[in-house]
Amino acid sequence: MKKREFDVVVIGAGSGLIISSKAAELGLKTAIIEEREFGGTCLNRGCIPSKMLIHTADVIEIIKNSSKFGINSKLDKIDWNKIQKRVWNTIDSSARNIEKGNREENITIFKKRAEFVGERLLKVGNELITGKKIFICAGTRPNIPEINGLDKVKYYTSDNIMRLKKLPKKILVMGGGYISAELSHVFASVGSEVTIVYRGERLLKNEDKEISETYTRIASKKYNLMLNTNIIKVSKKDKSIKVELEQKGKKKNLITDILLLTTGRIPNSDILKVKNTNVKVDKKGFILVDEYLETNVKGVYAIGDIIGKYLLKHSANLEAGYCANNAFSDSKIKIDYSAMPHAIFTSPQIASVGFTEEELKEIKYLKGKYNYYDTGMGMAIEDKDGFVKVLVDANSKKILGCHIIGSDAPTLIHEVIVAMKNNLTISDLIKTIHIHPALNEVVLRAFLSVDREGKEEF
Ligand SMILES: Cc1cc2nc3c(=O)[nH]c(=O)nc-3n(C[C@H](O)[C@H](O)[C@H](O)COP(=O)(O)OP(=O)(O)OC[C@H]3O[C@@H](n4cnc5c(N)ncnc54)[C@H](O)[C@@H]3O)c2cc1C
Repeated sequence: MKKREFDVVVIGAGSGLIISSKAAELGLKTAIIEEREFGGTCLNRGCIPSKMLIHTADVIEIIKNSSKFGINSKLDKIDWNKIQKRVWNTIDSSARNIEKGNREENITIFKKRAEFVGERLLKVGNELITGKKIFICAGTRPNIPEINGLDKVKYYTSDNIMRLKKLPKKILVMGGGYISAELSHVFASVGSEVTIVYRGERLLKNEDKEISETYTRIASKKYNLMLNTNIIKVSKKDKSIKVELEQKGKKKNLITDILLLTTGRIPNSDILKVKNTNVKVDKKGFILVDEYLETNVKGVYAIGDIIGKYLLKHSANLEAGYCANNAFSDSKIKIDYSAMPHAIFTSPQIASVGFTEEELKEIKYLKGKYNYYDTGMGMAIEDKDGFVKVLVDANSKKILGCHIIGSDAPTLIHEVIVAMKNNLTISDLIKTIHIHPALNEVVLRAFLSVDREGKEEF
């Protein structure tokens, strides 16, 4: 078998491309191994197609809610075919362009699956590849739960549901995390009857409890929500799927056109056969790295979803930047994850940074909360459910966390992210002039509502 040697080998063309670009820029002989489309999960099966579909869902929601603004409008027709074309023409051509852009002098692309066959040795098709430095950026894939009969029915995951050719009348979404929340919003908006089946007692359970409870209450009005429920068996029923459920000891049956599984993600380290190296993984198969993103094997690094830290694109990009610096320069820098935010683009939108109230057991904290509707813009846009909640250290007055549910939450939270990252205090935020009546006034007033001694001078 032919053996090829490189300075740098990058496995996975998602955030791994940040590392391969840096290596090529430095004149290093670089290999990229990618078995699917360039751009990885985010571009092809994750962040971008979901947000494009979510924008369509948001437009539909505006039309459906227009009567409260004095507009009598009617949703005439939803052209799923056209919606699909807009999304996939854009995404597929972006993926092709990214691949084309990477066909440059110092880069060799292998469009195949990689498997480790030795410590630093990879088998790619019928070639062996080795590198002085190897970067494992191979991501995760949807977790498929064990359900009686699942192997005999057609089911979907986030990998393929967004390319569905025909809109289903009924869709059953198994799971209560953010992918469930985002895709339920899409399918309910375009007219499918959505059932969410979740074994927990409230949706988005990792969010601050008040956010999770508010979202669960809103979701229960929009969807057929079945909490504390397990799927025990699935089987084919004509062209549909029969789903047998158990809810608090009671058995129930449901018929659905589509079964969508959103039950977590698992690392691709098994497919990559990381077990054939000395690289250590945790119990779930996520690759273990040190603060410099290096594995226990010198010169072998890992970043992104496969290290299981945050499973977010901005986290994977952050890690790739640090990792490239640490691998290619003389000054190594420890990764800094502080003030890592996240958002959920469902309806209403959700965003969060820092500690939830439930996590603040040991620390003395102060709390502030403000409703959107009690501000000028909140009233103007009729946001009656939204609120901003802030948590502040009682001694230092530094910000410990912020949780938002409501319109534009992922944008609003950014001033708090900047404040947290730079160790600012509540008074730094309050002293900052906020535009009236922009929605950021809700954030400002949440901070003003904190019961604190010594008011700022204005
Ligand atoms: C539906 C959905 C919505 C999401 N929305 C958001 C969002 O709004 N915001 C956000 O921050 N994050 C979001 N994410 C998460 C985000 O997509 C991931 O965190 C990010 O893509 C991880 O990047 P990565 O480079 O680590 O892995 P990936 O992008 O998954 O890249 C890994 C690449 O490695 C390739 N590969 C794997 N094994 C092999 C092998 N053995 N040989 C060759 N190639 C291999 C894969 O084909 C893949 O292209 C979403 C995810 C999903 C599923």
